Amino acid sequence: MSKIALITGITGQDGAYLADLLIKKDYEIIGLVRSYSNGNIKGLSYLGIKDKVKIVECDLTDLSQVIATIKEYKPDEVYNLAAQSSVSLSFKQPIGTIQFNVVSVLNLLESIRMLDLNCKFYQASSSEVFGNAILPIKETTIINPISPYSISKAAAHWITKNYRESYGIFSCSGFLFNHESFLRSDNFFIKKIILQAIRIKNKQASTLEVGNIDIKRDFGWAPKYVEAMYLMLQQDVPDDYLICSNQSVSLRSIIEYVFEYLNIPLSCLVINMDLFRPTEIPDIYGDNTKAKQTLGWNYDLEFYDVLKILIDEELRNTK
Ligand code: NAP
Repeated sequence: MSKIALITGITGQDGAYLADLLIKKDYEIIGLVRSYSNGNIKGLSYLGIKDKVKIVECDLTDLSQVIATIKEYKPDEVYNLAAQSSVSLSFKQPIGTIQFNVVSVLNLLESIRMLDLNCKFYQASSSEVFGNAILPIKETTIINPISPYSISKAAAHWITKNYRESYGIFSCSGFLFNHESFLRSDNFFIKKIILQAIRIKNKQASTLEVGNIDIKRDFGWAPKYVEAMYLMLQQDVPDDYLICSNQSVSLRSIIEYVFEYLNIPLSCLVINMDLFRPTEIPDIYGDNTKAKQTLGWNYDLEFYDVLKILIDEELRNTK
């Protein structure tokens, strides 16, 4: 009999790639959306799997709805990917970000506990929770969040750990570093840069306006990162893992690569101080040894190979 996976945040980048992976492994997929009316499933359509996912409406901030949904579908695995996921937006919407990102996790874990369900739980945590730390980040690095988003993800992680330790629930946090794909939302850095650069190339725009680009981040390839989520729930013992590429790259060098690839002069680049964030992590990269050794997660992509894939896929779809 097929296993049942319930994925929250099915309309996001990771939701689509994870559903694709699990469908190939013969899972039945229940994808939660906040509302049928704006249930944006273009990611599932892009991957050709929209008819293979059962879309269900559920407000994750309403415990009674979450209990009813978990009770009805009795998932073997829950992947909690739904979140207000933008650091920048979290400074503008701190209350909404913290309320949703924390209460949703609590409601899911509380439902699993109350229903006494034998169900494994994955929480989408983030490298952002470590703030300005000694590099490389490891699983033992102290959590020190410096944005409303990372505060919400830190709290969600502690809830996940607490339900594991207090109630024996198989719950894990994956601390994922930035990961990209064609399905990334338009408001995230690399996608935004590529889209605007293509507009400049096509003479639909003349400049690219950015904030602080002298920071460095650890970027990876989303379809490979969702494999790690799946692997975490296939272990005998629940634990938390960093999922990252082991190297960081400056945002400035990403822009330079994209501009050179598309033959755009650097004079089109405009730095806007108004776009700087109130607090910023200058550099961050992680150590993925534990994920590779314990989960058998194999990741060997170089960042610029990923960037080239992203530009080429965007160009193909723009045509
Ligand atoms: P994404 O593309 O931004 O998708 C976020 C998902 O959460 C969407 O399905 C969205 O639904 C849902 N969501 C947001 N606010 C909601 C709300 N108030 N009520 C119900 N649903 C809501 O994110 P992603 O890149 O797939 O990332 C998946 C998870 O990993 C997120 O939790 C993110 O914080 C975390 N993460 C991502 C990265 C990364 O680099 N991608 C790195 C670290 C951690 P709608 O379509 O209805 O808006």
